[in-house]
Amino acid sequence: MADFEVPELREFPVIPKLKEGAMKGSGPFVSRAPFQEPLGYPDELVENWQEKALEKLDDLRGRYRSLQVYLDSCVKCGACTDKCHYYIGTHDPKNMPVARQDLLRQVYRRYNTFAGKYFPKLVGAVDLTKDVLDDWYNYFHQCSQCRRCSVYCPYGIDTAEISMAAREIMDSIGIGQKYCNEIIMKAGSIGNNLGLPEPALADTLEGLEEEVEEDTGVAVKFPLDQKGADILLVTPSADFFAEPHVDGLIGYAKVFHEAGVSWTLSSYASEAANFGMFIGSYENMRKLALRIRKAAIELGVKRIVFGECGHAWRVAYSFLNTLAGPWDFLDQNYPVPQHICEFTYDLLQEGKLKLDPSENDHMTLTFHDSCNVARASRMGDKPGGQFEIPRAIIKAACNNYVDMPADTIKEGTFCCGGGGGILTDDLMEVRVKGAQPRMEAYTQVVKENGVTNLAAICAICKSQFTKVLPYYGHGMTDIVSVHQLVSDAIILSDAPKDDDDESEDSDNN
Ligand code: SF4
Ligand code: SF4
Repeated sequence: MADFEVPELREFPVIPKLKEGAMKGSGPFVSRAPFQEPLGYPDELVENWQEKALEKLDDLRGRYRSLQVYLDSCVKCGACTDKCHYYIGTHDPKNMPVARQDLLRQVYRRYNTFAGKYFPKLVGAVDLTKDVLDDWYNYFHQCSQCRRCSVYCPYGIDTAEISMAAREIMDSIGIGQKYCNEIIMKAGSIGNNLGLPEPALADTLEGLEEEVEEDTGVAVKFPLDQKGADILLVTPSADFFAEPHVDGLIGYAKVFHEAGVSWTLSSYASEAANFGMFIGSYENMRKLALRIRKAAIELGVKRIVFGECGHAWRVAYSFLNTLAGPWDFLDQNYPVPQHICEFTYDLLQEGKLKLDPSENDHMTLTFHDSCNVARASRMGDKPGGQFEIPRAIIKAACNNYVDMPADTIKEGTFCCGGGGGILTDDLMEVRVKGAQPRMEAYTQVVKENGVTNLAAICAICKSQFTKVLPYYGHGMTDIVSVHQLVSDAIILSDAPKDDDDESEDSDNN
């Protein structure tokens, strides 16, 4: 199946032996002019790229105090070395978080510190050469910006921010990543990552309405561009067509229907994902976030709810206000923005949503905490809500639930291996190898607890697992959406009663 070695799953995780240079040269396809220029970047490597790269590094250090602190404060304690799933899966020492950071730090030291200028060898400072730039390109695209390493760093150094800065520097000198930049270009011009135009989106939603009505007998609506609706749903475009994502979208629609609220999608802002974050570009992230603001104003909605997408929720929760606020025109009685899990959870708490968990009795579930939700956001009004709320929904929708081992979930969760702009076929080896720790934890509960399925609330995780589960001996359909479970368990109060129900009712009478 693979033209590379798929890692063997280990029963007891041990620190992998080093394989120097194992993933050197495993970088993604380089972006081309049509995807560079619309984002404001040169279309190829500029002539004076060293000078420009160092200028950009200065600019970013000036803009982001955290970057400056992270570059200065590592004490090489080694606590992060074995915490990255890409190091565990590839054994390449440059995939150790500290070594990844050092690719940028060594250059920073050379040009920006006294010791680095005059005694470079003493402080591990290096010139910015083409070889160094090649290493930047390869290894900063083998970081999913999951922030796991930062949890274990005594100084809280966040490699994700360093890899974002490195990518921004590379874009600014003309070597961006094709996958991310093409997606940002499509989302910025058409409205979603897929480049799905309004008529195709309208058609898809109409098809879903027919499908759900046929299945349930209830006219559950999937409204598009409905002015005056209370809620704007912003969801990853994968929800419009791919399995298991679309089953989640059906779940959101059923929840809205049962709640009796009016809601709409927008054809102008038909994407929750914001890949501007992956390339570290505040400007591009802002451009995409402003589409949501414009859609919300034009449609006259009172609330914004985000669908199941990990990094989209990070951008929404952590940055939406500074990127595109103030949101004072929205109803301040509700969280701005709100996650679909918070919406569903509140209804469950209020007893306004009836679920029959026996509908999911054919499954035993576990939950994969998506990195950006787990380590870069929250849900609800209590610390840890981002861990408890999705689990509470799953447990309300299913009778059989088991957590994966404690050191692989919640704050310490392992990335799926496809986050941070890595979810592209040209990085399949990195993706499969990076999935190893999560697959080990999943396999453990499959073997020991009879788990049959893995639920997630992130479009990237769902797509990644669909691809990598088979490499580790599992079915690609093991991965399910959390709202897919809700969709299957929900009791729609206006559903026609079937004959069995009627005869049962009359027996009871
Ligand atoms: S942020 Fe995640 S992917 Fe990047 S170095 Fe740290 S653990 Fe690895
Ligand atoms: S844990 Fe933090 S301080 Fe220690 S080596 Fe890693 S990045 Fe440096």
